[in-house]
Amino acid sequence: MIRKLLRRVFRRNGTPSAVAPAVVPAERHRIHREHVSRAALRVCDTLQQAGHRAYVVGGAVRDLIAGIVPKDFDVATDATPEQVRALFRRSRIIGRRFQIVHVMFGPETIEVSTFRAAHNEDTVKDEHGRVLRDNVWGSIEEDAARRDFTVNALYYDPATQTVLDYHHGVADLQQKVLRMIGEPRTRYREDPVRMLRAVRLSAKLGLALDPAVKNPIREMAELMENVPAARLFDEMLKLLFSGHAVECLKRLRDEGLHHGLLPLLDVILEQPMGEKFVLLALANTDARVRAGKPTSPGFLFATLLWHEVLANWEARKAKKELATPALYSAMDEVLDIQGEKLAITRRIAGDIKEIWALQPRFEKRSGKFPYRLLEQPRFRAAYDFLLLRAASGETSQELADWWTEFQDADPERREAMQVADTSPKKPRRRRTQSRKEAESTGEAAQ
Ligand code: ATP
Ligand code: MG
Repeated sequence: MIRKLLRRVFRRNGTPSAVAPAVVPAERHRIHREHVSRAALRVCDTLQQAGHRAYVVGGAVRDLIAGIVPKDFDVATDATPEQVRALFRRSRIIGRRFQIVHVMFGPETIEVSTFRAAHNEDTVKDEHGRVLRDNVWGSIEEDAARRDFTVNALYYDPATQTVLDYHHGVADLQQKVLRMIGEPRTRYREDPVRMLRAVRLSAKLGLALDPAVKNPIREMAELMENVPAARLFDEMLKLLFSGHAVECLKRLRDEGLHHGLLPLLDVILEQPMGEKFVLLALANTDARVRAGKPTSPGFLFATLLWHEVLANWEARKAKKELATPALYSAMDEVLDIQGEKLAITRRIAGDIKEIWALQPRFEKRSGKFPYRLLEQPRFRAAYDFLLLRAASGETSQELADWWTEFQDADPERREAMQVADTSPKKPRRRRTQSRKEAESTGEAAQ
C-alpha cells in the first residue's frame, strides 16, 4: 500500500512527479499569440473544436518564451493519428512505429503527435539501457515526463493563452538553466543523443547546464558509440546549422565530447592546417543562419573536408600525377573514406564535389575561361567558397577581389580586367597539355 502510494508520488527515477501542472498566465510567459504560426493556431483550434485537447509544444514554446523565432511548430494532442487525419484535408500519417501526422497549410507543415506514454518495464532497450522502441500513447503528464529538458516540456494553449508547465520549465528558462526531467544518467542511458542536445540547446538559448546535466557527460560520452550513424549525423547537422555552431563546438570540447566519438567532430577539430578555415566556415554559416539566409550541408561539408583534399592533392602532384586528374582522385578518395564514416548521403557528396571541382578554375582569368565559369550553375557556391579560402589565407585575397568585381562588371570592364596566366612558365608541350587539361576540368564539372 505504502509502496503503491510512493510509486504514485515519485516517478520511477526518484523525482517527485508533477501531479498538476503550473498554469502560467500570459503576463508571466509573455508569448504573443501573433508570434505563433497561423497554421499551428488553426490546428489547435480545429482539434479543440472537435473535443480534443491540443497544445503547441516543445521547442517552439521554449523559443517563444526565450524571445527566439521558432524554426517550426509542433502540436501535441490526445487525438489519435487517425482522428487527426480525419480533421484535416491536407494531412498525412507518417512513421511506422510511432505514428505522427503532418498537416499542411500552404508552405507550412505542422507536426501533430499524440501524447506519448512514459517508459516502463515493457520498454524495449539494448544492453546499455538505450531505448529501442516506444510506441504507446499516454496522458499529457506522461508525455511531459518523457521529454528531455524541463524547458522542452511546455504546452501552450492558444485558446486561453496559458502555458501548462509540468516541470518548472518556465522558471528554469527565466533563470537560464538547462535542467533534465528525471535523473540525467538514466536519461542519457535511454538516449545518449541527449548529451548532444544538452550542448546544442544550452548554446542556442544561452543557458547554463545544471551540474547534474553536465557532470555525467564526460564519463558517459562513450555511449554515443551505440547510436546509429545516421541519427548522429542528423543531430550533428542540427548542431552545425543551429546558428551557434562555433559556440556548440567550444562547449562540446569543454564537455569532453569529441575524440573518437563523433567522427565529424574529429574532422573539424583535428586539422592543424585547416582549423582556421573550418572555424571561419562555421562562423560564416552561423551568420547566414541567423540572418535567415539559405545554407547547405554540401557547402559546409565541402569546407570541412577541403584541407584533406588539398593535402591528398599535393601528395599526388608530388608524385608527378597531372594536376586535374590528381584533384579528382583526391576528391574521390577523401569522400570515399569520410563519406562512409560520416554517413554523407550521395546527393550531398555530389554537391561537395561540384564546389571543389570549380576551385582551380578561379585561377584562369583570361580568354573565355572566366566567362564560362560564371555560367556554371554552382558558380555562386563555389565563389562563396573561394571567399572563405582567401579569408583564411589559403589563396590570395587579390584573386577573390578580382572575382567579386568581375561578376558584376560591365562587358568593357570585364575585357579590361583580363589577367594573363601568371603560373610559372612551362615548356611549350606541357603548356598545350595543361590548357587541354583545363578544358577537360570545364567539361567534367558541368
Ligand atoms: P530545435 O530548436 O532544434 O527544433 P527542439 O527541442 O524543438 O529543438 P526537436 O528535435 O524538434 O528539438 O524535438 C521537439 C521536442 O521533442 C523537444 O522539445 C523535446 O520536448 C522532445 N524531444 C526531442 N528529442 C528528444 C529526446 N532525445 N529525448 C526526449 N525528448 C526529446
Ligand atoms: Mg523543434
